[in-house]
Amino acid sequence: MFSKSRSRLVLVLSLLLILAALTALILPQNSYAEASSQTSSSYSGISPKYVFLFIGDGMSFPQISAAEMYAGALASPSEVKTNPLDFTGFPASGVASTYESDSFIPDSASTGTSIASGFKTADGIINMDPAKKIKYDPITRPLKAKGYKIGIISTVSLDHATPAVFYANQESRNNYYDIALQLANSGFDFFGGGGFKDPNGKNSRLQNPENALDVARRNGYKIVNTKQDILNLTSKSGKVIAINPELDRDAAMPYEIDRKAGELSLSDFVRKGIEVLDNNKGFFLMVESGKIDWANHANDAAASIHDTIEFNRAINEAVKVYKKYPDKTLIIVTGDHECGGLTIGFAGTGYQTFFNKLQKQTMSYLEFDKIVESYRNSRTQDSASLEDLYPQIKAAYGLIRAEDPDAKNFPDMVLTDAEIQRLKDALKRSMVKSSERKLTSAEQLLYGSYEPLTVTLSHILNNKAGLSFTTYSHTGLPVPVYAIGAGSELFNGSYDNTDIYKKMASILKIK
Ligand SMILES: [Zn+2]
Repeated sequence: MFSKSRSRLVLVLSLLLILAALTALILPQNSYAEASSQTSSSYSGISPKYVFLFIGDGMSFPQISAAEMYAGALASPSEVKTNPLDFTGFPASGVASTYESDSFIPDSASTGTSIASGFKTADGIINMDPAKKIKYDPITRPLKAKGYKIGIISTVSLDHATPAVFYANQESRNNYYDIALQLANSGFDFFGGGGFKDPNGKNSRLQNPENALDVARRNGYKIVNTKQDILNLTSKSGKVIAINPELDRDAAMPYEIDRKAGELSLSDFVRKGIEVLDNNKGFFLMVESGKIDWANHANDAAASIHDTIEFNRAINEAVKVYKKYPDKTLIIVTGDHECGGLTIGFAGTGYQTFFNKLQKQTMSYLEFDKIVESYRNSRTQDSASLEDLYPQIKAAYGLIRAEDPDAKNFPDMVLTDAEIQRLKDALKRSMVKSSERKLTSAEQLLYGSYEPLTVTLSHILNNKAGLSFTTYSHTGLPVPVYAIGAGSELFNGSYDNTDIYKKMASILKIK
């Protein structure tokens, strides 16, 4: 028996040796990627004290390129010249894949989990495994334990998926009340930007849910929601929740293109966050520009561009800290996934673009929706006519009719007969309330779940500018990653979004 099993062991061992030798011969290149990603995720320098992670939701190469080309076209109309966003010039840059555990096309909960905790998960899950059994710790928790102060800023509601992955564990991103409770119990130091979608727990399973903001107050948070109170915050203010005074129907800050003079911007929140978080032991600040995503869902290129440009300004607030403490600061800028399938180029404009036309757009789709809504409420379906809305269309999108006296001044903004027909068809559908609207599958491709007239206006203007979208959802494109400061060199190269966590963890010496 003994000798028989020994000879079997020898046989197995020699087979394994042969297999290993063959593997080495056949797969020399495959081991290369693994080796490089292992080395580039290990850092031996001193950990930075001031760490910034900027996430443009739905922001990938197309959104960044569109903003840089738009700014360049405006600054030098006669040349083909981009006006680079400052962060795209950071010394380190890379590309991260964004797929989630159940699809190449991910959502913000799964990609956020990958960035915050280093694990792949499924659509809609906040810091848990796809089976919803195991909870993952976001990087913010061990950092807080090490003495870093933690700040979280978003232009959308603070209980939305991307901010939530930095302080919550939930089976669903839609558990807004439970997420708000986890925020209130996080012990983190600064929350700023949007508000809360369900602070009273109307959609919660609890019998008598306590207001999540009351829980936060009991836990020592100071809650402010006027411009003056927000501007008065200092490093002595303690734990803070700062809610923008102007919020839309989703408790998000206004689009940059709609923000009125004097209203707070994302960069105002970042500047204030840096001030409040300032302390000897350092801080970690995550900043999300959440409505780049929403603009691209709605195929509103101009709103996406304006929010991306404001995102750049917000990042420049962190660059001021870097310039003061270059050896102690790390800034990482990335997106979580692409949205809209935006691209530079359209079948009708061939090899040309006309970015200057996007400058004619003066409001986001969301504001124009309000115009459509009040028109719908003031007319019957039969008495509706596109005629009535031409002044508003001209003011909002710069699009004009051939009969308009301005047509000779702006010939390239004149609506063609085919475009007018598209608008008439869309208006007909917009005259039915969205809850009662039954779209054919062909109409669903044209309008998605958006206000038919508004989204058609966006499509017409985008196409005249030489841009187009393929979807009202996310896409499977990778995202760029840019970094500057201590440890930034780790972000060079090509890797997965879970590696963003691994690189941060190595730089910040978290196991
Ligand atoms: Zn999205």
